[in-house]
Amino acid sequence: MVQNIHFDPVRLPRETQTLREEVREFLAEEIAAGTFNPQRESGGGFDREFSQKVGAKGWIGLTWPKKYGGHERSFLERYVVTEEFRVANAPTRGHFVADRQSGPVLMKYANEEICMDVLPRICSGTCCFCIGMSEPGSGSDLFAAKTKAEKSGDGWRINGTKVWTSSAHYADYMIGLFRTSPPAQDNRRHGLTQFLVDMTLPGITVNPVLQMNGDHEFNEVVFEDVSIPGTFVLGEVDMAWKQATSELAYERSGPERFLETFYVLVGLVRLLGENPDLRGAEGIGRLVAQLHTLRRMSVSVNGMLQAGKEPVLEGSIVKDLGTLWEQALPAKARDLAAFSDPQTANRISFEELLEYATMIAPKLTIQGGSTEILRGIIARGLGLR
Ligand SMILES: Cc1cc2nc3c(=O)[nH]c(=O)nc-3n(C[C@H](O)[C@H](O)[C@H](O)COP(=O)(O)OP(=O)(O)OC[C@H]3O[C@@H](n4cnc5c(N)ncnc54)[C@H](O)[C@@H]3O)c2cc1C
Repeated sequence: MVQNIHFDPVRLPRETQTLREEVREFLAEEIAAGTFNPQRESGGGFDREFSQKVGAKGWIGLTWPKKYGGHERSFLERYVVTEEFRVANAPTRGHFVADRQSGPVLMKYANEEICMDVLPRICSGTCCFCIGMSEPGSGSDLFAAKTKAEKSGDGWRINGTKVWTSSAHYADYMIGLFRTSPPAQDNRRHGLTQFLVDMTLPGITVNPVLQMNGDHEFNEVVFEDVSIPGTFVLGEVDMAWKQATSELAYERSGPERFLETFYVLVGLVRLLGENPDLRGAEGIGRLVAQLHTLRRMSVSVNGMLQAGKEPVLEGSIVKDLGTLWEQALPAKARDLAAFSDPQTANRISFEELLEYATMIAPKLTIQGGSTEILRGIIARGLGLR
């Protein structure tokens, strides 16, 4: 189907400013108390106590119904909270995935009993989720997944391996994509089902996979005869191809998709000082203008979500442009800083920031959908393939 690319001209409403100030004040207090270092961690670390404080503030499940512990506020208010946490590099791993995508999936596809049990725990910051989609041999092509769920009495028995599973070593639950039937002849995407998985079940083994900088962010998760109750099926059996793709739309549209190396830009501005040379001033101006444009596009996507639209194509464009921008930032900043005074103290901390950002940069255009896959989606939306 040919779609036009359309970005509604959305602005953050004035009311969001008060919320932004509250969030900034909270984060400044936490930084001052030594809870986290805003110049470290890629995409925020894991800190259950911190997540609980965020939950107590009412900033998890911000848009969700009150009956599930949510706060019935707008997507644009959630945008502001996400932006402030990401810019500060706050440790949000304990709640961010559940808040962004697992909770909305449960609200759509889980039964009421599960929603009433799990969603309030997510909102209080006490329940961490991971996403079990990728497998060895099935990353971009999710529909090649082989990990099997076979009927066993009233429930299901799971066998197989997931990989690159972020936060599985902390998570209380996974939303997993498992094969329940072979692909159909006329639809190779048929035959996969989404399940809620309690990560404490016997038969689940989580093995660490380290990043090249030594960080432990993702894992291999092995399932050996894991028994899951029938009530933990999410949505329709064999029909996950529709559900998993709507989950990806939540995953791709937020400010976290271009702010993961933002601290490098802040470091560069500090390093070049109040009177940068012409080259430095022009370079910073260019980066800030690009960032501003990305932000306008991302706010627009969130405004469209708020209006009940499904901006899948526009979300993919923001993710593609955003991750390329944040990935290129460390090299551009190094280039612009090349002629600055190497003696300053700022220079040393800037080099540390650069080293860290350079090491994590390769993953940015892979996680959440690789550049090539996003461009395929965009091309299809434009009727080019
Ligand atoms: C930091 C990080 C965290 C992650 N967290 C999770 C997680 O929590 N849960 C989870 O399930 N997964 C997670 N992933 C996995 C991620 O979704 C996959 O790595 C990604 O989908 C790519 O799959 P792959 O690694 O199997 O590569 P492949 O799919 O084998 O791709 C290899 C290369 O081929 C290209 N390619 C593949 N197919 C096509 C095509 N049809 N057309 C053009 N080019 C193509 C890709 O763009 C890529 O460059 C994470 C990955 C990273 C880096």
